[in-house]
Amino acid sequence: MIMLLYLLMFGFWIALALYVLWFIFKAKTVQALTLDDLALTWKVHKNQKGCTASRIHSLIKENDEVVGFRCDCGYEFVQKRLITQMPVKEKQPLIIQKQLPTI
Ligand SMILES: [Zn+2]
Repeated sequence: MIMLLYLLMFGFWIALALYVLWFIFKAKTVQALTLDDLALTWKVHKNQKGCTASRIHSLIKENDEVVGFRCDCGYEFVQKRLITQMPVKEKQPLIIQKQLPTI
């Protein structure tokens, strides 16, 4: 009886650990857009650029999740991911070094 309880406890912790790992993995790879995010981002784009397009040209998908969209005017929006944001910060000093000789 006590063994059964231990097994249940073990199973519970495994499930919790897997869930946490899945959550971290999900959060760090693809930043999926919800329909609300998409509509809001498109509205902001239309206001900022004075875009008169009446519809979104196409959706940008990655791993079966919507990560961005293309507007009829040619504007392209892709939700930035944590993984791609980190290398950009590391590359910044290199860009500055490259720019210095030309100045
Ligand atoms: Zn547009």
